[in-house]
Amino acid sequence: MTIERYCFYCGTRLQVLKRGLGKEEHVRLICPKCHAKFYSNPIPAVAALVLDGDRLLLVRRDVPPFEGSWCLPGGFVESGEDTREALSRELFEETGLRGKASSLVDVVSFVDTNPEGKGVIIIGYRVGTYKGVLKPGDDAREVRFFGLEALPPIPFSSHRALIERLRQSGTH
Ligand SMILES: [Zn+2]
Repeated sequence: MTIERYCFYCGTRLQVLKRGLGKEEHVRLICPKCHAKFYSNPIPAVAALVLDGDRLLLVRRDVPPFEGSWCLPGGFVESGEDTREALSRELFEETGLRGKASSLVDVVSFVDTNPEGKGVIIIGYRVGTYKGVLKPGDDAREVRFFGLEALPPIPFSSHRALIERLRQSGTH
């Protein structure tokens, strides 16, 4: 991994420090001049669990990774945005529905593959009431409800974990 980054405070090129061994290994960026440390943290994302009776709303992706696969509506939280605002925005962008987070389903970490090797933390919210007409957004090929017992394959283990948690906690 090539890292060409400069100190936020003084502009000096940062040095890479490796700490720990094997699975414990992690990378720290340190400024050799002012000694500021820069951490590499997972990126926060949200996922919406929207039910119509016992049917769950899924989006068919039109972008890599896993283009053509089904997943929960959602995406990355933008700077300056509350996680619940991010959920409502992503839900509308991807499905055309207006809705709000009504309860927290679970928070799951996804460390296998991810942007910049940082990992992602996915916050899964149940969406209670919603309105609007289903319409796939720019990143989606198709959007529709599936029976919870007849879901198509979902490649994201984090999304599967959230759906399992939803099943355990009940859909009412
Ligand atoms: Zn510095």
